[in-house]
Amino acid sequence: MSGLRFQVVGEAFKKEARYVETPEEATSSYFGKYTFGKEQMSQYLSKDTVKKINEITKSGKPLDRSIADQVAAGMKQWAMELGATHYTHWFQPLTEGTAEKHDSFIEYAGAPGEGVIEEFSGKLLAQQEPDASSFPSGGLRNTFEARGYSAWDPSSPAFIVDDTLCIPTIFISYTGESLDYKAPLLKALDAVDKAAVEVCKYFDENVKKVYSYLGWEQEYFLVDEGLYAARPDLLLTGRSLLGHESAKNQQLEDHYFGAIPERVQAYMKEVEFEAYKYGIPCKTRHNEVAPNQFELAPIFGETNLANDQNLLIMSIMKRIARKHGFRVLLHEKPFAGINGSGKHNNWSLGTDTGVGLLTPGKTPQENLQFVTFMVNILTAVYKNNALLKASVMTAQNAHRLGANEAPPAIISAFLGTQLSQLLDKIENAEFEDGIALDAKKKMQLGIGSIPEVFIDNTDRNRTSPFAFTGNRFEFRAVGSSANCASAMIALNTAVAAQLKEFKAKVDEKIAAGQSKEKAIFEVIKEYIKLSKPIRFDGNGYSDEWKAEAAKRGLDCETSVPKIYDAYTTKESVELFTKTGVFTEKELHARNEVKWDTYTKKIQIEARVLGDMIISSVIPVATKYQGLLLDSVTKMETVFGKEKALKLSEKTLQSIEQISEHIAVLNNSVEDMVNARKVANKIESEKDKAIAYHDTVLPFFDTIRYHADKLELLIDDEMWPLPKYRELLFIR
Ligand code: ADP
Ligand code: MG
Repeated sequence: MSGLRFQVVGEAFKKEARYVETPEEATSSYFGKYTFGKEQMSQYLSKDTVKKINEITKSGKPLDRSIADQVAAGMKQWAMELGATHYTHWFQPLTEGTAEKHDSFIEYAGAPGEGVIEEFSGKLLAQQEPDASSFPSGGLRNTFEARGYSAWDPSSPAFIVDDTLCIPTIFISYTGESLDYKAPLLKALDAVDKAAVEVCKYFDENVKKVYSYLGWEQEYFLVDEGLYAARPDLLLTGRSLLGHESAKNQQLEDHYFGAIPERVQAYMKEVEFEAYKYGIPCKTRHNEVAPNQFELAPIFGETNLANDQNLLIMSIMKRIARKHGFRVLLHEKPFAGINGSGKHNNWSLGTDTGVGLLTPGKTPQENLQFVTFMVNILTAVYKNNALLKASVMTAQNAHRLGANEAPPAIISAFLGTQLSQLLDKIENAEFEDGIALDAKKKMQLGIGSIPEVFIDNTDRNRTSPFAFTGNRFEFRAVGSSANCASAMIALNTAVAAQLKEFKAKVDEKIAAGQSKEKAIFEVIKEYIKLSKPIRFDGNGYSDEWKAEAAKRGLDCETSVPKIYDAYTTKESVELFTKTGVFTEKELHARNEVKWDTYTKKIQIEARVLGDMIISSVIPVATKYQGLLLDSVTKMETVFGKEKALKLSEKTLQSIEQISEHIAVLNNSVEDMVNARKVANKIESEKDKAIAYHDTVLPFFDTIRYHADKLELLIDDEMWPLPKYRELLFIR
C-alpha cells in the first residue's frame, strides 16, 4: 500500500550533491554573456544605432523600422554565434510567469522548396502576433477579435535560453489595452520618473531622470522530486493540503543562516552560474527560517529590468531544480505550521545625478529633499493602503499575510525611532525655527544631522509590511510566486500621483508669494499630519494592532475577492487614469481576471483535496480499521468475549476514533462538493469568487484537521503520502 512512499523516501536518501562544472575564470568574465547588453551592442551594432537605441530607451518613444532592422540583424548574428536557431517574444501575461512561442529563424531562400536561409527582420523583432485568445484578458478581447500583439521593450536586453533568442516584450490588445504586467509597469515607471524629476528640480536643476529601483529577495522551498511526485497536492497546487505537523519543525531555529546542505549548495551554485550568464547579479544565498526553505537575492537594479530578471530566475530555478532531483516550491505557503515564502521588494528612487532620494544626505538641502520624498511616499502609502494590499493579494498569499510570520493583512509603514522623532519634530515646528537651505548653517531642527542617525539602522521590525531600512523601503507583503510588477505598478503610480499633488500645492504657495523653502516645509508638515495613521512601529502580529488599525481607518478587509475592489474605487480610478497607467476599462477587466484566477485556484485545491480524501485517506483508514477489528475478533477466539474486550480497550477506542474521523471526512467532502456546485452556477466572476471564499474554502480546515488526526492514528507503514518530516528534512 505505502510502497511508493517508502520507495521515494529510500531513493531520496541516496541522492548526492551534483556539482556542475563552472568556469575557472572570474564571474565578471562571463557575466551577461547570454544577454544582448551594452557590450554586445557595441560589438554587433553601429555606433549610430546604439546611440538611437539609448535615446529610445531613455525617452520611451517607439522604435522606427530602419533602426529595428539594423538591431535585428546584429542580434541575429550574435545569437547565431551562440548557437541560437529560434527566437521568441517573451512576455508577461496575467497568468503566473512568462509566455513564449518559439519560431525558427529559417525562411525559404527563394521559391518554396529551394533551400532555407536564416532571417530575422526588424519587423519580427519589433512586433509579433502570438495567438492570444487563450490568455486571460478579463473580457477585453472577444474571442472573434482575439488578436493581441507583443512589442519589443528595448529597455530590457534580449537573452538566449538554450537555442532560443528571447525578446522581452509588452503584450497589448489591438485596441491598445494592456494584457500583461510589463506595459503598465513601464507606464508607472514613466509616471514616477516625470513626477519625481519635477520635485527634484526644487533642489537640483540638473536632474533629468529619476529611476525606480527594485531589489527583490526570492524565498523558496526545495523538496525532493520523488517525494513531490508522491504528493498529488504539491504536484497540482504547489502546496500541501494535508499533513500533520512534524514533531520537529522550526522551533529550534537551527535552520536560519545555518550551513547550507550539500545537495542544496550544489543546486544554488548552478542557479547562480546560470543567472550570471544572463547578467543577473546574484549576491546573497542562505537558509531561511523554515526547514528546507532558502533565499536568493541579487543586487538591486532598475525596476523593469530587475523584474524581468526575477521572472527569468524563477524559471531558471525550476529548470535547474529538476537536474538536482529537486522541485522548487515558489508557493507562498507550501506547508502549514511553518513559515511561508515572501519576495521582499526593496524599493527606492534615485536620480541620474547619482543621488538616492531615500538616502539621507550630507547637506541640509539634500536632507530636505530626503524628507520631502519620505513624507510623500508615506502619504501615498497612506492614501492607497487598500490598493497596495490588493496589489499583493492572491489566493496563495492570503495564507501568509495575517498568519503569525509575515506582515498582517493591513498595510502600515515602519520608520524606526529616529526618523519618527524627526517627523514629529517637523510636524510641531515652525519654518522660522530653522530650516535653512544652506549647507553651512546648522539647522535647529536637526535635519542637517540625519546621516549620523542612520549610520546603523539596526532598528528592524520584521512584522511591518512596508519598512524603511536605511536607504530604501522594503515592501515585504509581496508573495514569493508573484510577478513583482503588480506591487511595483501600484506603488510607483501612487507615489507619482502624490508627488504631482505635492508639486501643485508647493507651486501654488510660491505663486502666492511664499519662499520655495517655506512652501515645501509647510506642505510637508501638512502631509506629515495627514499620513500619521500609516506609521506604526509596534508589533504588527498583535491583536491590539488590528483593533488600532481599524480605528485609524486603515483597510482591514481579509477576504481576497473583496480586497480587489480597491482597484476600482473612485480614488483608484482617478489615480490610474490621471497618471495614464490604466484606463477604467482596464482596471475592471483586470479585476475580472483576478476573481477568475482566485476561483480557479480554490476550485482546483478543493478537487485535489476531495480526491486525496476519497481515494487515499479514507481507503487506508478503513483498511487499518479493518485490521484492528480483525485483531479484536481474534482476541475473542483466544480469550473469550469478556476478557478480549477488556484487553482491547485501547484498540476499540482507536476504532471508534477512526470511524468518527472517516464519517466527518465523508460528510465534509460531500458538502464541499455541493458548495462548489452552487458556486459554479454564479454568473458574476466577483460573486463566484466570494462564494468560493465564503462557502468552499472553510471546508479545507475541517477536512485537514480530521485527515491529519488519521495520519497520527494509522500505522505509519500504511500511510501513502510522504509526511511533513520527510518533505522538510530530507535534502
Ligand atoms: P535583508 O537584510 O533585508 O535580507 P538582503 O541583503 O537580503 O537584505 O537584500 C536586500 C536587497 O535590497 C538587495 O537586493 C539589495 O541590493 C537591495 N537594496 C539595497 N539598497 C537598495 C536601494 N537603495 N534601493 C533598492 N534596493 C536596494
Ligand atoms: Mg529583506
